[in-house]
Amino acid sequence: MPVTGEWFTPTELSFSAIRARPETEWVHFSLSDGSGIVGQGEITDKQLGTSISPIVARLANRLRGQKLTSDSDVITLNNLTAEQLETYRPLATAVSGLRCAIADALAQVAQLPLVDYLRAIHDHDGKADRKVQLYSNINRALKPTFDGPNDRSPEGFAEMAERAMEAGFTTAKCAPFDECRAPFSNSGLPREAEMGLDRILAAKAVIGPDRTLLVDCHSRFDLESALALEPRLREAGVGWYEEPVNPIENTDDLRKIRDKAEMTIAGAEMGYGVALFKKLMEDDVLDVVMPDVKHCGGPVEAYLIGRELEPRWEGSVSMHCPSGPLSLLASAHATAAFGATIPLEHAVYEADWRHEVLEPFETIEDGFLTLPDGFGLGGRVDPVAIAMRGRAWTE
Ligand SMILES: [Mg+2]
Repeated sequence: MPVTGEWFTPTELSFSAIRARPETEWVHFSLSDGSGIVGQGEITDKQLGTSISPIVARLANRLRGQKLTSDSDVITLNNLTAEQLETYRPLATAVSGLRCAIADALAQVAQLPLVDYLRAIHDHDGKADRKVQLYSNINRALKPTFDGPNDRSPEGFAEMAERAMEAGFTTAKCAPFDECRAPFSNSGLPREAEMGLDRILAAKAVIGPDRTLLVDCHSRFDLESALALEPRLREAGVGWYEEPVNPIENTDDLRKIRDKAEMTIAGAEMGYGVALFKKLMEDDVLDVVMPDVKHCGGPVEAYLIGRELEPRWEGSVSMHCPSGPLSLLASAHATAAFGATIPLEHAVYEADWRHEVLEPFETIEDGFLTLPDGFGLGGRVDPVAIAMRGRAWTE
C-alpha cells in the first residue's frame, strides 16, 4: 500500500466563507504545502457569529513546517486531551476541520481517493461503493432562504417533502416542533406539540407508507413530554425519533425514554470521538448515533466510529450532515468507507447554486451522491464561487 511513510508539510493557511441563506454561512479553510497539495476542511458552526477560524489558525501554527503523517498529529502537536475535545465544542470543531484537511492532503500525497485511503490505513479489505445514498433533510429549506420567506404551515412541509420525493429521495427528515420548549404548562402531551404533529401528518401523507419520514426534536422536550409524544409519532408512521432530549447532556432521561419507546431513537450530533459514541451504544442510550464530520473528529474518526459500531449493531451509525458541500463530500467518503446501511443526511434546497460551490460540481442524482474520481476529497471549494458569492481571508 502506498500509504506508509507519506507525509504532508503545511506552510500556508487561508479561509473562505459563502452565505447560503440568511442564517447559514458555510466556512472553509485550506491548508497547503505551497507545491500543489491543498487539504480542506469545513468549520461552519451552528450559530452565526461563533468564529472557529481563530482556533484553527492557532492550532495550525504548530503544524507549519512539520512532517505530518497522520490527521491526529494536530492533537499530539498541540498537546490536546480527550477531555478537552469532548467538552469544548469550538475546539472539537476546529480539530475536526484540521483532521479533515490533513487526511485530504495525505490521501492526495498517497494518490488515493479519501474513501480508499481510509480503508488502506486501517487494513480494510474490499472496495467501497462510489455512490452514497442520501436522505433529504428539509429543515433548512423551510426557513428563510434568499429565494423567499419560509412557510411553516403543514402545507409548506407537505410541499417540501413532495419536492424531495420527486427528486428521487426515499427518506425525508423534518424538525416540526417550533412551538415547543420544555418545561410545559400541561402534563402529558404538551398542547404546543399539536401543530408539530399536524406538520408531520401533512408531510407523511405525501411521502406515503412505503417511504420514510424522520423527525428531529432538537432537544425541545423533557422526560414526561417525550414519553407522551412517542406513541403519537409512532401512530403517524414516523421512522425515527431524534433527540427528544439531549443525549449527551441528559443521558439518563434519554436512556429511560429509549427503554420505554418502541421507536428507533437517534441522536448525538455534537459528540466527539469513538469512545463517546461507543459508550452511548453500550449504555443503551441510543439505537442510532449521528456523528457529524464537523464535530466528531473529521472523516477518519467518523470512519472509525462506523467501523467499530456497525459490526456490533447493524444500522447504528448515520452521519449527521446539515452542512455545506465540502462536509457532505467528506461524510460521503467516510460513509462509503465503513459501509453504512443507513442513508447519509443532506440538507436540501438551501441554495439552488449549491452544487457550483465545489470544483468539480457536487453530483447528486436520484437521491445518491457520486464520489468524484480525484485524489483526497476529489473536490475543493472553487475560488470562482468564493469570488462570486463569498469572502476570503487569512489569519
Ligand atoms: Mg438533529
